[in-house]
Amino acid sequence: MTQNFTGNFTQQEPIPQAGIDAALAVMQHGRLHRYNTSGTEIAEAALLEEEFAAQTGAKYCLAVASGGYAMTTALRASGVTHGDHVLTNAFTLAPVPGAIAAVGGVPVYVGVTEDLVIDLDDLATKLPQARVLLLSHMRGHICDMERLMALCDAANVTVIEDCAHTMGAAWNGIPSGRWGKFGCYSTQTYKHINSGEGGLLISDDTEGMARAIMLSGSYMLFGTHRAAPPPEAFVQIKYETPNISGRMDNLRAAVLRPQLRDLPTQAARWNERYAVLAEGLAATTGLRLPHRPEKEAFVASSFQFLLLDWPKPAVADVLARCKARGVELKWFGGAEPVGFTSRYDSWRYAPSAPMPASDRVLAGIIDMRLPLTFSVDDCALIARIIKEVVETVYQGLDSGAG
Ligand SMILES: *Cc1c(COP(=O)(O)O)cnc(C)c1O
Repeated sequence: MTQNFTGNFTQQEPIPQAGIDAALAVMQHGRLHRYNTSGTEIAEAALLEEEFAAQTGAKYCLAVASGGYAMTTALRASGVTHGDHVLTNAFTLAPVPGAIAAVGGVPVYVGVTEDLVIDLDDLATKLPQARVLLLSHMRGHICDMERLMALCDAANVTVIEDCAHTMGAAWNGIPSGRWGKFGCYSTQTYKHINSGEGGLLISDDTEGMARAIMLSGSYMLFGTHRAAPPPEAFVQIKYETPNISGRMDNLRAAVLRPQLRDLPTQAARWNERYAVLAEGLAATTGLRLPHRPEKEAFVASSFQFLLLDWPKPAVADVLARCKARGVELKWFGGAEPVGFTSRYDSWRYAPSAPMPASDRVLAGIIDMRLPLTFSVDDCALIARIIKEVVETVYQGLDSGAG
């Protein structure tokens, strides 16, 4: 008998009770704005920043309205302005090139490898075209960060990391987000901690963070921040920096603080599920799993595999058969952008030359959400379904009937 999956791929876990209690307390006192505090009270937003800075080892942290806002702020604070070229990944999601466009920049796309990380050889040839790289650790895959930083440092290119999928992850023991000048995080519902919308920005750069705080809309209240540069850092910057409001409020910060404490536990739960899927699919003919290097400590909030060099109708067949059995897969190779999924040639405000090697990879990338509402047994069932479907369709190809 064929077994179908009945779980929901977009259902996150509830907010932990401690977050609900903290949010209620904020609503009861009514001081939702981060600069509205009473007496010696410390705003939830300031506490969240202090705790995230401590957790990542960063000197400074700023809580903002979204991951996209964190990226535009990092770009602005790094001096990116109208007409500047900014390097970024061809394989990422729309908020990344969107952040570059928001500051008037022009994205220059860098290719993707079969292991789903930025192609460092392609990057090396394109470094002379820009002063900044907005590096997206797309779907939590982390490239060789030592090599990337050596290339960028030698070319004088500033690195800003998009860590929307790598909160809690590390390369060679150093947290993702701590390699570049800025690390940008999202707390949107589908990321590693959930406040619906929200973002965090970390840095060790005193001038850059002072600018970021002013940009975010601190008025002259930057002194109430805790994980922030000292007042001296603002002496000149406070006059020079426009206010582009994008602050985080105390309600979201209250919801996030307990989740931040739970992050290591949640990461282990995600990785337990990932391991079951990876094991279940390891020996599947026609299917390739991206290699995860020893140095990469990832947080597997999603799962990817490749159907490399498959004819498009066969990939579409796999997706349809999996869907019929309750397994929702996303495909980066579809003709049209769908749902959250699009790719570099969908972003026509920033046209690019064709990238055949990346097109080959993108055409084969299958992507699946891994919400923690799935049990380990659910993941084993999902793996069995995908394996059966992929092998069935692949056999059809072999015999010429596909
Ligand atoms: C979600 C996401 C972001 C930031 O998104 P916001 O919705 O603005 O918080 C950035 N990069 C990637 C790859 C993302 O998936």
